[in-house]
Amino acid sequence: VSDFSLQFLGAAKTVTGSRILLNLPGGGRYLVDCGLFQGPKNIRERNWQSHPDLLKLDGIILTHAHIDHSGYLPRLVKEGYKGPIYASPATADLCRIMLLDAAHLQEEDARFANMTQYSHHSPAIPLFDTKDAEQALSQFRATQLHREFELAKGIRVQMIPSGHMLGSTYIHMTIDAVKRSILFSGDIGNGRSQVIKPPEKPPCADYVVMEATYGDRCQPRTDPLNELEPIIKKVLGRGGTLVVPAFSVGRTQELLYLIATLEREGRINPVAVYLDSPMALDATELYLAHQSELRQHNGFGPFAGARYTSVRSTDDSMLLCMNTDPKIVISAAGMLTGGRILHHLKARLPDEKSGVLFVGYQAEGTKGRLLKHGLTQIRIHHQPISVEAEIFSIDSLSAHADSDDLVKWAAAIQPAPAQIFLNHGEQLALEALAYRLRHENKQRVLIAEADQIYPLE
Ligand SMILES: [Zn+2]
Repeated sequence: VSDFSLQFLGAAKTVTGSRILLNLPGGGRYLVDCGLFQGPKNIRERNWQSHPDLLKLDGIILTHAHIDHSGYLPRLVKEGYKGPIYASPATADLCRIMLLDAAHLQEEDARFANMTQYSHHSPAIPLFDTKDAEQALSQFRATQLHREFELAKGIRVQMIPSGHMLGSTYIHMTIDAVKRSILFSGDIGNGRSQVIKPPEKPPCADYVVMEATYGDRCQPRTDPLNELEPIIKKVLGRGGTLVVPAFSVGRTQELLYLIATLEREGRINPVAVYLDSPMALDATELYLAHQSELRQHNGFGPFAGARYTSVRSTDDSMLLCMNTDPKIVISAAGMLTGGRILHHLKARLPDEKSGVLFVGYQAEGTKGRLLKHGLTQIRIHHQPISVEAEIFSIDSLSAHADSDDLVKWAAAIQPAPAQIFLNHGEQLALEALAYRLRHENKQRVLIAEADQIYPLE
């Protein structure tokens, strides 16, 4: 059957813009994930390419809510896509927060470009706006976890939890006409989250599309509780504030669990915790609304006993910046690319009693990277700020499977798939993982090339 094929429209030899086009025998066309390209300008420009062929898709299926997997939806809808968008219930809920936030950022960027006349388009226009995001959200169809549903006649789909973030799943598809099945991994978790349940065993499939983000790296297996305890004791013990830049969805909730656990076990004195990010507060509520996806600890959910003060208004955030009592402030953006965290840093970096704790990857060219690498002065809002506060980092809170986890994950797919396609990774990560899967698992592996059509049989 010649019209059965896969094509990688993004996240091929890179980690953003996940979009996999699936042509089915008999004519169905589906897209698995619909991500935004992120990073340097030459990569982001690809978001402006139009894709008239994608407007007539029969459906889009999402693996999870991260913007590099969902953020192109409002743009595609703006261009005219009117079909259904399938996602797990928690992914659909998280997309409401994340796509509206993405739209807001697009609008802000366009406004800033017009103010500074720094744009190709004149006037600058956003890639999409709030109205487009709302329209995309209205096309979502929440799909229960585990329950197989008929995407079209003879095409069955099942969403299986992948342990990467709230709502994240593998997509398993069975095509009756050719008696074949395909598994799309999405991003795979590592089972070390204390908030989200570990990834489920992948089901067998003839073809597997698998991510390789950390294909060439292994993460520390240290217990984050042991790393966090001395940092809190040190900074709060000397009367300082511990400022934690964190991603609103994922790291923030892990931190709430860790702090509550250290308190409950009597390892630290009770501390004042402020969650200064409306998006993080909304996301935390969604976690609580999807209890069945959360890990249980001795019969309690991960946030049992977590006490924190919600800071929603900008006025309250400004007041908090002036507060010099010992405390922990969790705020966004995680890489210091903007947002309220910058005000907290401006207030606390010059204070030698205080500390800044990085809990996630800091991309090149961000203020987060500069601070983490020990710069003694940085510029915030055009002012030079001297760095007297102590800088800490914890690297054991990754939401991704590492190289060993990925090799084990693939080995669990039995019998061995006819072909594994690797995507969502930089060149070295892809090559390292391909090598390991071929030699350790004896599996057939191919690294996906952008835009190439791979016929399936
Ligand atoms: Zn992800």
